[in-house]
Amino acid sequence: MSIEQKIQSLRDELREHNYNYYILDNPTISDYEFDMKLKELQDLEAKYPEFYDANSPSLRVGGEVTKNFKTVVHEHRMYSLDNSYSKEDLLDWEKRIKKMIDGDVSYTCELKYDGASISLTYENGQLLRAVTRGDGTQGDDVTANIKTIKTVPLQLKGDFPQKFDIRGEIVLPFEGFNKMNEERVEAGEEPYRNPRNTASGSLKLQDSAEVAKRPLECLLYSIKGRKLGFSTQFESLEKARQMGFKVPEAAKLATSVDEVLEFIRYWDTHRHDLPYETDGVVVKVNNLQQQEELGYTAKAPRWAMAYKFKAEQVSTRLNEITYQVGRTGAITPVANLEPVELAGTTVKRASLHNADQIEKLDIREGDEVYVEKGGEIIPKIIAVDLSKRPAHSVPTIYITHCPECQTKLVRQEGDAKHYCPNYNGCNPQIIGRIQHFISRKAMDIDGLGGETVALLVNAGLITTYADLYTLTREDVLPLERMAEKSADNLLSGIEASKQIPFERVLFALGIRYVGETVAKKLAKHYKTIDALAEASVEDLISVDEIGDRIAESVIEFFSSEANRHIIDKLKTHGLQLELSAETLANQTEKLKGLSIVVSGVFETVSRTELKKLIEDNGAKVSSSISSKTNYLVAGANMGPSKRAKAETLGVSIISETDFLNLLS
Ligand code: AMP
Ligand code: ZN
Repeated sequence: MSIEQKIQSLRDELREHNYNYYILDNPTISDYEFDMKLKELQDLEAKYPEFYDANSPSLRVGGEVTKNFKTVVHEHRMYSLDNSYSKEDLLDWEKRIKKMIDGDVSYTCELKYDGASISLTYENGQLLRAVTRGDGTQGDDVTANIKTIKTVPLQLKGDFPQKFDIRGEIVLPFEGFNKMNEERVEAGEEPYRNPRNTASGSLKLQDSAEVAKRPLECLLYSIKGRKLGFSTQFESLEKARQMGFKVPEAAKLATSVDEVLEFIRYWDTHRHDLPYETDGVVVKVNNLQQQEELGYTAKAPRWAMAYKFKAEQVSTRLNEITYQVGRTGAITPVANLEPVELAGTTVKRASLHNADQIEKLDIREGDEVYVEKGGEIIPKIIAVDLSKRPAHSVPTIYITHCPECQTKLVRQEGDAKHYCPNYNGCNPQIIGRIQHFISRKAMDIDGLGGETVALLVNAGLITTYADLYTLTREDVLPLERMAEKSADNLLSGIEASKQIPFERVLFALGIRYVGETVAKKLAKHYKTIDALAEASVEDLISVDEIGDRIAESVIEFFSSEANRHIIDKLKTHGLQLELSAETLANQTEKLKGLSIVVSGVFETVSRTELKKLIEDNGAKVSSSISSKTNYLVAGANMGPSKRAKAETLGVSIISETDFLNLLS
């Protein structure tokens, strides 16, 4: 087999496994085997760039960065849908239809997926372009981001029309959404409010590698084009499935409005069992010929109608408002409710978000309130039933002092939340911070769990994470449920954590807004904790992707005497507070201060390696050419417009060999 054939066969194989895994939900090989094959393909592609393919399954991991999304005019306009809320609305609609066309009408009923709409263009079976709905007439080209979504086929299966657009919805299933939020909370960031906004925000991220990390899915519902080879909407869904798209199986054919209503009734309750969010049903005239006769109004097709589910609501009594203190000191007011059934679960608590929210709705203890489970995962209170307000009711006065440590709360300009500023003396903050420190993505201390941390703090054995390193066997043995063996495990876990690399230690410190990625960036840039501690705001924001908010938080952290003292202790205990010699050996300042653009395909190194070389040697990789660009490293197949732009701006264009010579 030639190299080219080998690459082709790996691509075909990986495509098939992707399809089995993501579309059919029925993998036939292990994740490990898949990863090995993918690695083999990536290595071959790096070595033989002449066989580059923009739709190779290896490109699913992303990496392309887009600064400004290109505007693209839709070939077929993306309309909105008219809404209906009752049987009467649907019967009226049917009457209007029957006035315009003769003969029987049947309907395809589909679920209305709640996400961000997208239009995908395929040509000769290859994904050519992905464009957001925008204003319906034109949208943004987000192809690089969409390619990272595994349920979007890059190459189609079986028979397909030569060229067509297919419409669908990008959704973020609950499971992935919750996982993302857990990680955000762990990093001290505000959780995302709902899957829909998070999905549509994801499409406009500049770094496609970030999009690749999000568990997005693409559900398809409509094909537009010429010579498509089907004559009804229902057939078109089956056709889309055969081409390899993900089309939910719920769709049903109905021959009357009564059957449509049956579908609606069924899904109004069963939608809660689906892994993603839906907000209604879309009913479409099934026959495409009839659709054409009906046409469009200025805003929506006459042949389709959305039926919106009512967000489920119940009313119940608000017994008490309590306040939770998070690891970062953020205060969250919580409504403790008289338990009530809502959308299949028993609801006892609802988040009240912040003081403004309580004031806006004038929510008081003892009120009868309406609770709704809409887009948000956590139920929310949407209104108060004033007719049931008790006579002696008094307006809620938001707490002024921390419920845990009685310190006066602060609320900074622009912050929605109040904070307890008693960073080193407030129990939930102390415990939360140490729990974060030992967590898997931070110091990953084996043998020590969150509950033990709370026990240690409450027993007065530790007050900061630095104190973990002075714990003795005698200290921990008396703790509840602590056997000799677990004590030893705990201590050896703590000892082992001294080898955890600097960037993870930096993340573990729990500096507000310094999540995993930011910690990596800072570690790489500053190399030692001392250098980071000395950095000024101006210096910090000059680091790629570090903004004011992060910079100020870092400064605040290191300006605290207590924190500096803790860091000194960590140093004494031998934690990694600088990059290791090995990491440093690969880093130089040979290209310090330069801004370099990379374009095209390379021979001796892959694009990713090239970018890493640039960064490791002190320069910045930039995605677009400007007057600030120092070099354009040009590989094979570089776009002519990039070259022209570099020439006009007088940017030096160098080859891969020239670049490597700069380093040697
Ligand atoms: P609206 O934004 O409320 O006018 O509703 C129109 C949007 O519903 C479309 O742009 C699609 O993004 C979305 N949608 C979700 N599921 C479907 C479906 N099965 N058929 C058509 N549109 C759908
Ligand atoms: Zn406090």
